[in-house]
Order: sequence, then C-alpha cells, then structure tokens
Amino acid sequence: MTRNFSKSKKRRLRLRSKLALENIKEMLNRAFLEGYRCNIERSIILGRQARRLSKATGVKIPWYFKFFFCKKCKRFLIPGKTMRIRIRNRRESHITITCLLCGSIKRVPLRHR
Ligand SMILES: [Zn+2]
Repeated sequence: MTRNFSKSKKRRLRLRSKLALENIKEMLNRAFLEGYRCNIERSIILGRQARRLSKATGVKIPWYFKFFFCKKCKRFLIPGKTMRIRIRNRRESHITITCLLCGSIKRVPLRHR
C-alpha cells in the first residue's frame, strides 16, 4: 500500500522509527546488564518491552539480538544463566541454543564463507 505523505510527515515517521530503534537497542543492552547482575526477572521484562515496542512501531529488532529471544516462550535469554550454547559437529556443524526456562532448542548452522 502506498500512501502519499507530505514531506514533513515522512520525515517525522523516519525520525520516529529511528528513535524507536535507539530505544530498542538501549532496552536490550540494559536487559543484558540486568541479566549479568542476576536480575533475571527485570531483564525478561525489558526484553518483553523491547519486543512490544518493535511490534507497535514496526521497527525490526537488529538481527544480532534475535539469538537472545526464545522462539517458543519469547523470553529474553542471558548466556550462561537462562541459555545454554553448545557447538555440535554432527551432521552439519551447528550451534544449539537451549532455553533453560522452557527447554526449547534452536539450531544455528555454521556455514563456511
Ligand atoms: Zn523458552
């Protein structure tokens, strides 16, 4: 769907999504900090808020954060605390990410580049 926005509205929308992205990044960085300070609950809440903001504004969460969200329970995971990472060499080499809160496993293949 194409809409004809005036120039100022376009600029405002771009500014809005830029601000949203900055907020999302800041929230997730804070979620990591809280997680490493053992405030698991608070980091999960921050992760949820970031996801909500991303959904409400239509701004995507940066790709490098997607490994830290459980695909099943959608909670934010802290490496070494609520998330287990292992390298597997069976079949194709891959990394398995286990959510210790609900037990779901995510596989990330390692491809040669
Ligand atoms: Zn989970």
